Amino acid sequence: MSDVFSTNDFESAYTYEGCDLGAVWSSEKTSFRVWAPTAEAVWVSLYQSGNPASDDLMEYFPMIRDVKGTWIAEKNGNLNGIYYTYLVKVNGRIMEACDPYARTTGVNGQRAMIIDLASTNPEGWDLDCNPNPLQSFTDAVIYELHVRDLSLDKSSGIRNKGKFLGLIETGTKTKSGIPTGLDHIKDLGITHLHLLPVFDYGSVDENHLEVPQFNWGYDPVNFNVPEGSYSTDPYHGDVRVREMKQMIKGLHDNGISVVMDVVYNHVYHAEEFCFNKIVPGYFCRVIDGTYTNGSGCGNDTASERSMVRKYIVDSVCYWADEYHIDGFRFDLVGLIDVDTINAITTEVHKTHPDVVFYGEGWTLNTQPTKPCELAVQKNCHLTPGFAYFNDTLRDALRGSVFFSDALGFVTGAVGIGEKLEACFRGLPAWCGDPNQTVNYVSCHDNNTLLDRISLAAPERNMNDRIRMNKLAAVFYMTAQGIPFMQAGEEMLRSKPDGKGGFIENSYNSSDAVNSLKWDHLDIPQCRDTYEYYKGLIAFRKAHPVLRMSSVYDILSNMIPVPCENEHTGAFRIRGDVCFEPADELFLVFSAADTAQTIPLPDGIWHICIDGDHAGTESIATIKGSVTVEPLSAMVLVKGALEQTRVSERISSHPTLECLSGTGSALFRK
Ligand code: CA
Repeated sequence: MSDVFSTNDFESAYTYEGCDLGAVWSSEKTSFRVWAPTAEAVWVSLYQSGNPASDDLMEYFPMIRDVKGTWIAEKNGNLNGIYYTYLVKVNGRIMEACDPYARTTGVNGQRAMIIDLASTNPEGWDLDCNPNPLQSFTDAVIYELHVRDLSLDKSSGIRNKGKFLGLIETGTKTKSGIPTGLDHIKDLGITHLHLLPVFDYGSVDENHLEVPQFNWGYDPVNFNVPEGSYSTDPYHGDVRVREMKQMIKGLHDNGISVVMDVVYNHVYHAEEFCFNKIVPGYFCRVIDGTYTNGSGCGNDTASERSMVRKYIVDSVCYWADEYHIDGFRFDLVGLIDVDTINAITTEVHKTHPDVVFYGEGWTLNTQPTKPCELAVQKNCHLTPGFAYFNDTLRDALRGSVFFSDALGFVTGAVGIGEKLEACFRGLPAWCGDPNQTVNYVSCHDNNTLLDRISLAAPERNMNDRIRMNKLAAVFYMTAQGIPFMQAGEEMLRSKPDGKGGFIENSYNSSDAVNSLKWDHLDIPQCRDTYEYYKGLIAFRKAHPVLRMSSVYDILSNMIPVPCENEHTGAFRIRGDVCFEPADELFLVFSAADTAQTIPLPDGIWHICIDGDHAGTESIATIKGSVTVEPLSAMVLVKGALEQTRVSERISSHPTLECLSGTGSALFRK
């Protein structure tokens, strides 16, 4: 069937556009609709429990063939809390499958549960909203976290270890009284908390949570259901829904927006995936009987097919609507076609214009089942509402992820000035819009920043490595684009392998490797690095000129400054734009081993950031020239340090570029 599924004839006959797929609950009845165009017959099975090991079938009844390849059935009564599956007869064989549109499930995601979703809403949910509705995507500061990592180490002081609820415990401290968990994240000042997969994935057995199990979770089983192991009770389907909403509400109440890591590009097991059981071979790309494997996980999603596209669009809209999710990070989005990505961003932005979208636009070896363009970096102009991880910046600053001893700017690489300059403007070679580049130097993949620096600079002492770390941080936190960091980068996170090396891929390593070690904050160097990151974020937030959203503004206001040393670069940024309070910023980045002196433009300059301190306030003032110490950055401000004179500036602003022209320009209170 694989060839037929992607034909126009099949798509016009069997594309269902309604919004009632799945089990739609009301207190009087529940209606079922499933898309199964190749089925000969379909039944609904009802169960007492969600545990596939329990022999508690209540009844089963046939579905009736309806429009566009769908099948329907209705059952009277209040079925809230009843579990169900579909029995689907295809090619003479009967398969039992969970509902692809399941809203929740029992343990391990095998049986769907009929649910009254409103009953799972926390108090105040109707009024809950995104606490950071950005003017521009470049206003976001994203912090990437695995649910388990936050709380597992005993120094976290968090009670709900490894659970959604652990993310909203406040008042938690290390033994020496340093805030941990949510209090730490809130104090750091990030806007968006990006969670590694929290939908139902397959690599943790929810039946044995008494045994510590760790996995990043890039192995989807149910795309529209929260992961059971993060709930306090994976057996009762309502609990995971309720607790995930509670977590989101708690984060929102603390000023933190929530981003979900979504993995639509592949599934855990192609044959076992419920959609493929119901419509064999439809969900995945199968060419000449073989699954394509650009994902490296054994299968790639055929997003170019109409009902896969609809499924993904429906799923993202569901998380945005039902769970108030504020952003989506797409795993290996380079496997998904641009029409699907645009359908998602357009549909979600209709009702949630502030939702951010970004993903991994790597070019991968897949084969779509019909001609289409894929959402890879070089096609970013085809997906204007969607941003991509900037590996150009990552590799230029810290060195390639493919050669662990390769140098980056901070560890001494030279000859990459053009690349760095383009990235600092938010305009790497593949990208023409600062809203589409996610600037980072570490994420869950590959070595942590400090570990990567240690690998490239083994001859350096720890003090120098920390200076290199801070230098990288200043660069990407002041670059145009969207800054992104891995949790713990701000406290020198490391993943030692116990043999003098470091773990590069900790997807199923122990909690001991992965968890955040809060008591490291008792170590002065970690504590100091944390304060430094906090200062960088505050500085970024205080200066809109670091968050320009228009290319015109960037090109007209950012001026590179020639430096003599090949390890040193500098930029002036004029403040006549975006209601920037300062008249001008001067930024210098130096990986040189000796101090460098650079002439300054006229005027008195405040030092806000140097190799040791970062923040919005003036450390000292200078004029004439600036001397930057080895392995460090300096950020200088001329004029106002904070946005206290904005109304005055609006009335006296000579050009008001921000209010005219592009339409994407920023306007801030
Ligand atoms: Ca699971």
